[in-house]
Amino acid sequence: MAVPKRRVSHAKTARRHAQWIKSLKGPELTVCPHCSEVVMTYRACPECGYYRGRVVGKLGKEEEK
Ligand SMILES: [Zn+2]
Repeated sequence: MAVPKRRVSHAKTARRHAQWIKSLKGPELTVCPHCSEVVMTYRACPECGYYRGRVVGKLGKEEEK
């Protein structure tokens, strides 16, 4: 098993953590092409149930004929 040669300094640790914290932001948001509601990407729209041009799940049943 690999063993660290030197103890990592506080500065180095802080720099690494600062980098990682940058990636902590909110979920990716987009606008639903069907009802123009703000929705999370790669998720079915909670308003109309549309995802990739069709209804998925029980939401949006009134859209079907
Ligand atoms: Zn929608």
